[in-house]
Amino acid sequence: MKIITAISEMQSFAETHRRQGRTIGFVPTMGFLHEGHVSLMRFARQESDVVVVSIFVNPTQFGPHEDFDRYPRDEAGDRAQCEAAGVDVLFMPKASGMYPEKPAVFITVEGIADILEGAARPGHFRGVATVVAKLFNIVKPHKAFFGQKDYQQCAVIRRMVKDLNMAVDVTVLPTVRESDGLAMSSRNSYLSEDERRKAAVIHRALSAAEQLAKVGGKEPEKLKNKILAVLCEVPGIEIDYVEVVDPETLAPLSSAKDVMALLVAVRVGRTRLIDNIVIH
Ligand code: AMP
Repeated sequence: MKIITAISEMQSFAETHRRQGRTIGFVPTMGFLHEGHVSLMRFARQESDVVVVSIFVNPTQFGPHEDFDRYPRDEAGDRAQCEAAGVDVLFMPKASGMYPEKPAVFITVEGIADILEGAARPGHFRGVATVVAKLFNIVKPHKAFFGQKDYQQCAVIRRMVKDLNMAVDVTVLPTVRESDGLAMSSRNSYLSEDERRKAAVIHRALSAAEQLAKVGGKEPEKLKNKILAVLCEVPGIEIDYVEVVDPETLAPLSSAKDVMALLVAVRVGRTRLIDNIVIH
């Protein structure tokens, strides 16, 4: 596995492989890799000739009081996991390389990036869309792979790719979970043992709503109330939002649709966790 830190080297590597007719598959991450990330790498490995994984904890997508400074890091562990997943290039740019001066150009995805996570974390999706666009210009992938765990992020990136005619094929892959259903996340490492146990209620709540929909209770209000009721069974879970939304536009639904996305954000202690399921 090749490790690249210089942007120009990454660009010329990509250019060379493109000229030779190879398909480049790309998995952007912030590191502290887990099975969720690895599932994206394995899928990329099947779908592409050259697999590039980036690790970059992007400062511009964190709010001033968020966890940028304490975001978990494990370079040696990350390298080993990438190597085991058959990754060809691990791209680890430095912040000074990505942002050599105060940036003047940003990508703002209007509407879809303003609600839910966007409302709770102002500027977050501007940071995400801009860095993903920069990474696309550097890695030059034909295909990019993202996890459903960050449902709104996927919607924002799809919209950016569509509106800006980016020649990147975006694939969204299912959320990988711990055995008790908790969605894997680098941020789970912040949880104390007690918080970790409590956090399993998030998936229990989403599953309970899914069950309810199966037996006929498909109205968004009922689904939402079911999720809230299950979350409230566990003390110490602070609800940020619970929404039943259109799977494409993310607009809140007032009546049932064939496909609905159930989105949850909660705080467990100091840690903010998100999860979702899509019901058909
Ligand atoms: P992050 O390192 O958190 O920025 O995540 C990098 C990529 O991995 C994003 O596309 C995430 O949606 C994806 N990802 C994170 N957690 C999971 C998970 N539990 N299952 C599947 N994909 C995930």
